[in-house]
Amino acid sequence: MREVFPTIQIGLISRLEKLSQDKVVFVLSKDSGMIDTHCHLENEAFDLDRESVIEDARDLGISIITSAIDKQLWNKGCEIAEAHSNVFASVGLDPTQFSECELAIEWIRSNKERLVAIGESGLDHYLIRDHKERELQESCFRSLIALAKEFELPIQVHSRSAGRKALEVLKSCDASDVHMHAFDGKSSLARTASRDLGFYFSIPPSVVRSPQKRKLVKAVHIERILIETDSPVLGPDKGARNVPANLPIALKEIASILRREEEEIREIVLENTLRLYTKIN
Ligand SMILES: [Zn+2]
Repeated sequence: MREVFPTIQIGLISRLEKLSQDKVVFVLSKDSGMIDTHCHLENEAFDLDRESVIEDARDLGISIITSAIDKQLWNKGCEIAEAHSNVFASVGLDPTQFSECELAIEWIRSNKERLVAIGESGLDHYLIRDHKERELQESCFRSLIALAKEFELPIQVHSRSAGRKALEVLKSCDASDVHMHAFDGKSSLARTASRDLGFYFSIPPSVVRSPQKRKLVKAVHIERILIETDSPVLGPDKGARNVPANLPIALKEIASILRREEEEIREIVLENTLRLYTKIN
């Protein structure tokens, strides 16, 4: 593996030197490091055992970006990140809560130093059916894209039943540093967005039971693949609580779909993640 990917190894080593002076990202000092690029540790599903959930991930060499998307949870998400060397925070807004957009923008403006990304933000055409409401939702999405561009932070995008539309909006806003999470749209759209626009797509552990996600793995440019758990949802077993420690399940499945070595895929995906999330590296 080392001989095959010398540039990746060199890249990681030079980052390690920088990291040791900054917030300790223990994961990158291990050969097994990986980053759960999107989950919800502040969710009440983890209120009873959050510390052990984070510890379990840590034992496996997993760092985590937690995305707080409800005004009640923004500060909680940041505090969890600040208390754990392997956790980073993103703040955004559940796309169904578009009426809170101004409040979210204000909060992010005054707390941007605490964040490695903005999001999730986006469109949910599954839950929002009304035309007028969809317009308001899109306008909030556009405002958060503009904010992410202003702060030069990646944006984590939710696009449930609205994959094509979300990509159109991002393109029309000239968005860069885009992370499409749990993308449920056509794989041909992901193919084009990852290759022509450089957008990143994260694959959750539910890839083991989702034909759509398996197609996505094959379609997305390999240098644009990330992994996520979206805990507490999108786990390998439908309905069961998902945890960041399930991240290797996604990695293993991606390697098997692409017929590559797991370690090779881990290195590529980690390199992709650090290329996008520049505040981590
Ligand atoms: Zn999510």
